[in-house]
Amino acid sequence: MRCPFCGAPESRVIDSRGLDEEVRRRRMCSACGARFTTSERIQNHALYVVKKDGRREAYDREKLATGIRKACEKRPLPMGSVERLITTVEERLHGLGRAEIPSSVVGDLVMEELEKVDHIAYIRFASVYREFADIGALKEALDSLTAGQKARPSDSENSPAPHR
Ligand SMILES: [Zn+2]
Repeated sequence: MRCPFCGAPESRVIDSRGLDEEVRRRRMCSACGARFTTSERIQNHALYVVKKDGRREAYDREKLATGIRKACEKRPLPMGSVERLITTVEERLHGLGRAEIPSSVVGDLVMEELEKVDHIAYIRFASVYREFADIGALKEALDSLTAGQKARPSDSENSPAPHR
């Protein structure tokens, strides 16, 4: 770890502390004595995503986040909820305790979490992720979305009184 102050390549770890998903190290530069903190997302190094064609790819939080953010674009979600969702998915991935995870499992986890947060985002993600290959699942998702809207009492307030 290079010293951010003088650029010297050597530094000594003087304190190390693990948080939930990262390790923070307090370091001291061997050359100038400056102290600085580094933070590492430890688990990311160990995780590989196995794609459909069998290729392995190092897990990339940003790549995962891009897909999720895209699905949530312009959705009325509370501040920070997208980042929390990404973290939840990531924690669940690590919770599987496997070094290699099929991309389909990653996609399914994202869909499960998105479904809890926003149905439109869920449908968007599903349509991209499943590439409309699984029409049954998509229809199921659309049906549950419609059912959810009907179940909300506020929707019926402004519409003509239904037949009873
Ligand atoms: Zn230094």
